[in-house]
This record gives sequence, structure tokens and C-alpha cells, in this order.
Amino acid sequence: VKTLDALEKAEKDVKEWSETRGSLVSQLKKQEKYRKEFIGNVSHELKTPIFNIQGYILTLLDGGLEDKTINRAYLERTEKSINRMITIVKDLEVISKLESGELKLIMERFNIIDLINEVIEMHEMRVQKNGIQIFFEKSNAAPKFVYADKKEIFQVLNNLIVNSIKYGREKGTTVIEIMKMDNKMLIEVRDNGIGIETDNLPRIFERFFRVDKSRSRNMGGSGLGLAIVKHIIDAHNQNINVSSTYGEGTSFTFTLEQSK
Ligand code: ADP
Repeated sequence: VKTLDALEKAEKDVKEWSETRGSLVSQLKKQEKYRKEFIGNVSHELKTPIFNIQGYILTLLDGGLEDKTINRAYLERTEKSINRMITIVKDLEVISKLESGELKLIMERFNIIDLINEVIEMHEMRVQKNGIQIFFEKSNAAPKFVYADKKEIFQVLNNLIVNSIKYGREKGTTVIEIMKMDNKMLIEVRDNGIGIETDNLPRIFERFFRVDKSRSRNMGGSGLGLAIVKHIIDAHNQNINVSSTYGEGTSFTFTLEQSK
């Protein structure tokens, strides 16, 4: 009987070991697929501005240098491409930190109204130049203090507001609204811009996913902004949602922990 028990136990151990091995193998395969995809996406993203810069320089060397207008126009385009590469590289640094779990939240109590005003002020120049309007609506019942990582929430608000401008209509409007929802704070960033088709909504937080690639690239986007936003909100154990009507506008809402 003892031998039989031992045999049964050994059989169970082998089965467990084989299951663990199986799940480790599939985990490694998944990681490998992810790594390949990531590198593929990154090189694809960087290729466009690099080839553009090469083209501008060749045009200048080919005689464009002698013409003052061509000169300036091509240098300006070169600068735009370099700025795009800087955005991509910066966003890549952020996303790799977030995806490897390296981000340690520094939680503190802070005034969310002040933070939102700070982000809005940062875009004042751009907004004035393009005739865009940003409204900040806060009901009296809305709490003022939240408990979160201030730097990361700044990034969330900034990415959402930048998108509302990038994918907004000409002289469009962005509204930021804060509300109290049960014991949480609900923050909405909505615009009356181009909107997103329902089919594309579920993929909107995937890294490198874009509805309109050329529009995003023209606007200097890296395709990582919303993936970064989602990671930060997840790290806070909070929720983010999107709703949109194609041709009419988009609304992002996320929750934060309230603080007295
Ligand atoms: P990108 O750098 O391309 O802006 P994001 O991750 O910030 O990358 O957004 C992914 C895509 O989601 C964008 O390319 C755009 O197609 C769509 N999108 C994001 N925000 C909005 C918005 N407010 N209105 C319409 N489309 C949006």
C-alpha cells in the first residue's frame, strides 16, 4: 500500500511539474512574440522620420542649399522629424518602464483642480494660436483633493488633452469636467473632434494602435500616448473608459481616489 501511495504521489508530482513546465514555455513564447512585435513596431516608427531627414538633406545637398526658401523649408521639416523621433524615444522610455513594472507610484494627497489648471496653462499658447477653447467645469460638490501619483496623473491629463486638440476639429472645444461619483473622483476630458468609429474603440489603448496613421504622424504622435495613460490608471487600481461618436467627438473618463 505504501509503495502504491508513493507511486501515486510521484505521478501527481510529475503531472504538476509538466503543467508548470507547459505554462512556463507558453509564457516564454508569449514574451518572445511580444519582444519581436515591440522591436518591429519601434523600428517601423523610427524609420519614417529617419528616411525623411535623409531625403531633406539630400535635396539640400543636391542644390537646394543655394535657394534660401528651399533651405528654410527643408530645415524646418528636418526639425519636425527630429522632434517626432524625440517624442517616440521619450514615450518608449516611459512605456518600457511601465511595462516592466519598474514604475513605483509616489502617492500623495494633492489638489486636482490646481493640477488641471497647470496642464491647461501649458497649452495656452497653442490654444490661442489655433482658436481652440478649453473649458474646465467643476461642480461645487466635486471634491478638490485626491490621493494619487501627481507626476503620473499630470502625464495622463496631458496626453488626453493633447489628443483632444490633435484630433479636434478646427477651432474645436475641449471640456475637462470633474465630478464626485460615490466615494471616487471622476474626471472627464471630452472634445467635439473627429471621433472614433465603434469598431476601433476596443483597440484604442493598445500601444502603436492608431485609427489614422498619417494624421497621427503628422501631428507628431508616437502611438503610445493612450497605452501610457491606461498603464498609469491601472497602476493606481482605477478605471478608464472611452466613448465616442464618429464625426462628433470623444470622451475619456477616469477615476481617482478621493482624499479628505
Ligand atoms: P497618437 O500618438 O497616435 O496620438 P495615442 O495612443 O495617444 O497615439 O492615440 C491612439 C489613437 O487613438 C490615435 O492615433 C487616434 O487615432 C485615436 N485617438 C486618441 N484620442 C483621440 C481623440 N480625442 N479623438 C479621436 N481619436 C483619438
